[in-house]
Amino acid sequence: MALAKTEAIVLKSIRLRETSKIATLYTSDYGLVSVVAKGSRLPKGKFGAGLEPFMHISIVFYMKEGRDLQFLSELDVIEPFLPLHRDLVRFAYGSAVVEFISCVVHGEEKNPALYGLLLETLKSVSKAEHELLSALLWIFELKACDILGYRPEFSSCVACKSEERNLASFAPLLGGTVCERCLSREPSAIDVRPEVVACMRKLQKASVRRIEPLKEASSLGREITTLLDSFLAHHIERYRGLNSARMIQTITRAVQASSR
Ligand SMILES: [Zn+2]
Repeated sequence: MALAKTEAIVLKSIRLRETSKIATLYTSDYGLVSVVAKGSRLPKGKFGAGLEPFMHISIVFYMKEGRDLQFLSELDVIEPFLPLHRDLVRFAYGSAVVEFISCVVHGEEKNPALYGLLLETLKSVSKAEHELLSALLWIFELKACDILGYRPEFSSCVACKSEERNLASFAPLLGGTVCERCLSREPSAIDVRPEVVACMRKLQKASVRRIEPLKEASSLGREITTLLDSFLAHHIERYRGLNSARMIQTITRAVQASSR
């Protein structure tokens, strides 16, 4: 059994008996790793609050290949992302981001680009204005699709490759927009307005580091979510929508109602 050192983001943690926790971590060097943290629920346990969701940590663990659960030995917090714990709206969006990662990654395969994207996205969720967080989540999902090799197409027809014709539909299974001429051969395609296609192209080019206000994104929100959900459900095996999406809706409505 070897000692392994890496950076990680906590995706979730659950109680284990009276005093311990099992945490699911997305690590920079070993992909998804589940660890047992003995004594972490004791008031003076050596891991402190370091296994709360979203924590950016540095860890040392006992690694044994082929074992589902590894044993945590040391933990240092690099960045706790406290705004995600103190602000319900940020908490909901942060939860969606880590839930999405849990859906798309499997096992001990490292992916430095995806790890970097997750870290940058959580930094932005902790400081971007509330109004920009829905666009940030879409940009994060689109970037993750790029990294994982499922980039959806919004600039041409996925069937005939034409960039000239009117792209009035989106075929989730083919993974992109379909022109009017090819539509008859793709009955599962859904209608999509030109402004939604234009907005998707902007979101695909945007960065999670600096979110520019996309005025049209808020008015097209429902259509963008429907389109992205149908695409992800066809291309990511375990994706059945995000549970956190409902939490985002509930919390956003409550916050809006209380500020009126
Ligand atoms: Zn076509």
